[in-house]
Amino acid sequence: MALLLPATRPAAPSTVAVSSNAIRDNTALLRSRCGTPVMAVVKAGGFGLGAVTAARAALAGGADELGVATCTEAIELRRAGIEAPILSWMLHDDAPIRDAVALGVRLAPTSTAQLARVAEAALSAGVVAEIEIEVETGMNRSGAPRAQWRALFEAASATPGVSVAGIWTHLSGAAPEHFTEPLAQLDEALALARSLGLAPRRHAGASLAATVDPRTRLDIVRLGASIFGIEPVPDRPVGLTPVATWETRVSQTRDARGGQTVGYGRTPVHTATRLALIPVGYADGISRRASADRHPMTVSIGGRRFPLIGAVSMDQSVIEAGDAPVMPGDRVVLLGDPARGEPSLSEWADALGTIPQEVLTAIGPRVARREVDA
Ligand SMILES: *Cc1c(COP(=O)(O)O)cnc(C)c1O
Repeated sequence: MALLLPATRPAAPSTVAVSSNAIRDNTALLRSRCGTPVMAVVKAGGFGLGAVTAARAALAGGADELGVATCTEAIELRRAGIEAPILSWMLHDDAPIRDAVALGVRLAPTSTAQLARVAEAALSAGVVAEIEIEVETGMNRSGAPRAQWRALFEAASATPGVSVAGIWTHLSGAAPEHFTEPLAQLDEALALARSLGLAPRRHAGASLAATVDPRTRLDIVRLGASIFGIEPVPDRPVGLTPVATWETRVSQTRDARGGQTVGYGRTPVHTATRLALIPVGYADGISRRASADRHPMTVSIGGRRFPLIGAVSMDQSVIEAGDAPVMPGDRVVLLGDPARGEPSLSEWADALGTIPQEVLTAIGPRVARREVDA
């Protein structure tokens, strides 16, 4: 017997509408602002919004290449038919290197051991693997340490099956003075590579550095957060468009008297109020911190803002609607466009003591992602 699924109303308790036009337009704006090619970074499932949707939209906006963290993410893009150049920079143990290399994904070995794994995968796949070596210049995260550059570059130029297409670094900090020394180190790495007969391209800047410091733009910029509408410098916005609208519907209402309590933590209701239940909880990405203190996060119903009340549960949250005539079925916007009075990503981030990227990528698997205006 065929299972009948509702055709029009989404079956998920909440939905994130992803504007591919916004991703496209943000990419186009940033590309013209930077004046360089753009690698659109769609890691972590396109910052939680859908990697394939994001990749296609960014390419439509003029992105020249794509960047991801894992080989699996790169393979997903290839399986969706995306043929643009892809760089994948995290070579963890058991990464499906051979499949990635066979699909023409560029990898970023940071040690001679990783280089050997990539070369072996290339030989077994019968291809030459283009690699872009990441060098460490001060962030102390990934990247080949300076003391190993020579050995790594020499090995890379001598190893059959690999071809060095790039040398790059990732920058920490927020101001141009933080980038000077790392850029000088990247230059040294380039000079060393050239002295060994290599002719790689170079890149460094991601959204923040590329926005505030033209020196970091080099041959290509790697832009993630900004193409998803996250302003690199909120005080000096470049005019990006919000990409995600997270919405649900009120599933129940009840009228509470002063003196009653709400939720596991027995948060008191001070005066009579209507309580509106939504089927979205911390497993979906509304952190318990959103209702934890005296300044709960507010959400939008019918163009007005109402605060959460009571501890957020795993699957449900309660909104304090006061004397507003909120009814079951009313649309609730949890995250959207501040220009429409809806809660913004940065408002969530400020309320939770984190950054917008973490808010987006915390949106859980039960939330449907729906591409709009494709
Ligand atoms: C995440 C990431 C980027 C993109 O950074 P944004 O700040 O999101 O633009 C670029 N390069 C690397 C290596 C990254 O890990």
